Amino acid sequence: MLVMIPQLVIGLIDLTAAFLFMYGLQRMSSPATAPSGILVAGVGMLAAVLASFLYAFSVSAAAEPHLFVNVGLALIALIVGGGVAWWSGKRVAMTAMPQMVALYNGMGGGAAGAIAAVELFGGKSQGVAQLGVTLLGALIGAVSLSGSLIAWAKLDGVIKNPLRVRGQQAFNALVLLATLAVGGYIGFAAESGADPLIAMPVLITLFFGLALVFGVLMTLPIGGADMPVVISIYNAFTGLAVGLGGYVLQNPAMMIAGMVVGAAGMLLTLLMAKAMNRSVTNVLFTNFGEAPKHKQGAIKGSLKPVDAGDAGIFMRYAKEVIIVPGYGLAVAQGQQKLYEFVKLLQAAGVKVKFAIHPVAGRMPGQMDVLLAEAGVPYDLIFQLEDINDEFANADVALVIGANDVVNPAARTDKSSPIFGMPILNADKAKKVYVVKRGQGKGYAGIVNALFYGDNCDMVYGDAQAVLVKMIEAVRGLGTAAAA
Ligand code: NAP
Repeated sequence: MLVMIPQLVIGLIDLTAAFLFMYGLQRMSSPATAPSGILVAGVGMLAAVLASFLYAFSVSAAAEPHLFVNVGLALIALIVGGGVAWWSGKRVAMTAMPQMVALYNGMGGGAAGAIAAVELFGGKSQGVAQLGVTLLGALIGAVSLSGSLIAWAKLDGVIKNPLRVRGQQAFNALVLLATLAVGGYIGFAAESGADPLIAMPVLITLFFGLALVFGVLMTLPIGGADMPVVISIYNAFTGLAVGLGGYVLQNPAMMIAGMVVGAAGMLLTLLMAKAMNRSVTNVLFTNFGEAPKHKQGAIKGSLKPVDAGDAGIFMRYAKEVIIVPGYGLAVAQGQQKLYEFVKLLQAAGVKVKFAIHPVAGRMPGQMDVLLAEAGVPYDLIFQLEDINDEFANADVALVIGANDVVNPAARTDKSSPIFGMPILNADKAKKVYVVKRGQGKGYAGIVNALFYGDNCDMVYGDAQAVLVKMIEAVRGLGTAAAA
């Protein structure tokens, strides 16, 4: 016999899920509480999924003829999807995290689009408001799906160059207008009861096709360098589409989760744009990340290579060292060795701090996660505004795999693509060591005057290999002293 679960119980579980999402999100705002925040939000997600399944026991099987087949299919999807996510989450490299986020966004957008498609093709009378929400969810979900897949392809190197042609933005605007027109017509025909000029399923397919094409067209011209911001925008889109889907399905947990993701994604987008001193429209409609067209002024000074061991020993005798990690540290997977080196310095009485730029790496928070993974205590990690004044008193700034985030051109060169971006004041330290493999440029493709400064020496090599040499040299001092 079928046990009927009262709607009130499901509503209470939904409410608990919503509370857990928000509490989890609040805990994610500090690195110290973030891991537990993720767990709390995860439990919230579990509660929301449970509520959705319990729904099957709250309605009569007669009202939903395929209810149990659908529940079975949902369970299979859950097991397959959960298994793939578990497997890929365990394997993904730190540097491939942005690609993974792009794929997950795309999947979320696609799922929200699919919910809207079921509603639209189902042809049930929905009322103007619900139909409008369904169409909007379908549009945003489809754009997010195809756009995120292009973003993934760019980040993964499958698509190498941004595709830009004359009149592209006008053409994109036309495609968007056509999508909106078809969507509007679907709404009008469905609500007025008038016979549409073309069969409804054809119109709906055309609507989805146009929305998917728009997502591709919108993302293709954006430079690979701006993909983290674009991914964050699609994250917000996906959340919004899921929230709208929740409204269509009258599922409160889905509605709240979607809106929370949408709002968080939008805030993150704005914060990232602010940290790069750019507007979101500038990201979407200009070509940052290409080779700069401006002529850089002649840089005085020269690059001065030094031995990794000598640099390590110099730091061993310093009073204060501030470390600036960047994307290259993640590429080299040098975080464990870096912390090993830091512990050696600390044991010798050196005060060591980490300075994190908000867009160091290829996605926000990448450096914090990288350092946390190596076990670096949170009280050693400082954000830009909290540490920037301290560089002037530091004996050494160790810039490791970072470039743009310490480029003084951001302060002085008005024609530079990064002009106005707040940077870490590494150049103000008494001595600067820069660890990088060669004379490769940073993400923005510009030369860094810091490297040519009188107080700066270059330690060439892969970050991990350099750190191994620094550790050996400092350990060697201890052995020599003991002998
Ligand atoms: P960056 O400017 O890209 O510089 C990374 C440096 O690491 C390069 O100069 C490279 O030089 C070096 N490197 C690469 N592999 C290495 C290895 N195995 N060992 C040692 N060094 C290595 O990175 P960043 O300073 O972290 O700056 C981040 C950039 O990303 C900024 O321009 C920022 O605006 C942009 N961005 C970030 C986000 C975000 O969310 N984090 C979003 C949008 C844009 P070599 O090739 O010579 O080794």
